[in-house]
Amino acid sequence: MNFLSVACPFCSLHCDDLHLHYDGGHWVLISPTCPLATRKYKDWDPITAGPSNPVQEAVKILNKAQQPLILLTGSMEQEVVLSAVNLARATSAYLVRDSSYAENISSAIQKAGLLSCTLADLPEPTDQVVILGDDPHGTLPRFWEFVGNNKKEKVVWVQTQNIFESIQGLRLQNKGLKTSFSKEIEGAASRIAKANSGVVFANAGSISENENALTEVLLWMKELGDLKKWYGQVLPSSSNELGISQGMRSATGYSDGMIFRKRKIYHDPRSFQIEKIIEYHELDALVIIGDADHLPRHILQKMEGLTTVILSPEKPSFQTDVWLPCPRAGIDAQGTMLRLDGIPIKLESLVRSGRTLIQNSLAQLIQGIIK
Ligand code: SF4
Repeated sequence: MNFLSVACPFCSLHCDDLHLHYDGGHWVLISPTCPLATRKYKDWDPITAGPSNPVQEAVKILNKAQQPLILLTGSMEQEVVLSAVNLARATSAYLVRDSSYAENISSAIQKAGLLSCTLADLPEPTDQVVILGDDPHGTLPRFWEFVGNNKKEKVVWVQTQNIFESIQGLRLQNKGLKTSFSKEIEGAASRIAKANSGVVFANAGSISENENALTEVLLWMKELGDLKKWYGQVLPSSSNELGISQGMRSATGYSDGMIFRKRKIYHDPRSFQIEKIIEYHELDALVIIGDADHLPRHILQKMEGLTTVILSPEKPSFQTDVWLPCPRAGIDAQGTMLRLDGIPIKLESLVRSGRTLIQNSLAQLIQGIIK
């Protein structure tokens, strides 16, 4: 049986032109060519056995815990957020996300006046593509396919290590305020100046580490947007980073960094970050909702030794105290994720696996804790 125009859950492009074939055991991606989606569909194994009574085991851990931390990764569907907030409330937990950079940069891009888009939805071919930061291929496997031919002429790539200096150079060159520039900056500035339209892709992780660079990038984008038809887009690090941000904000008023105490929420995004909480606050349980393997290595190292409960579609590659297997939106569950341009994409369920929805598992945990 073939499915046409299925939307893909595995990165924030959420391509909706996937052709899949079910071979009786696995989904096989027929087209388009995408290494990430091919591997993810091939490896999908809804029958991997988990522990026999994971909910009871998790309840025991949470009932014992004085101070849990709940960590929501950006790879989950939006429907999960409210249940995660309810669990945080029931356990007086910290509630944080693995990354909140993309939302901040995305809203800053919009404030700079640039239009939002995905490459596939650009109303017309653009003259130039500017990439700020690391190679987008890691987070968006089909990025270079969308860019198409003539990459050398079409793409200006500002690498992570010199974003600030390069963007400052482009701005000064554009205003005629400095006379000597490197050949690269001169070439890039002239191509951008000649282009009638373009799109800037800002790699959230690369820019967020440097506040000066972010300010410079936003000023430059504002100047670009004032002059020509330019689009701006953030490259999030996981498939629904923007959707989880939006869901958190609508459920709590905040998108990250909070603690629940007797019906009140205290918000302190600077202090309540995963690493700081693990280091300076006495945690005795960690609940991860979403793909734990997606977390950066330095966070995984900090987590070592903590009692962990993980709710995720795929079995984590590292040792955890309890793993509750959940369905994956777009394969064996329905769910909503936000595309790069902020458009909500409904992911359909293709097969029944019998796994319990994360929302339902979280509701069972809350019931166990209240009893
Ligand atoms: S580029 Fe992303 S959304 Fe598109 S098929 Fe590959 S993994 Fe899926």
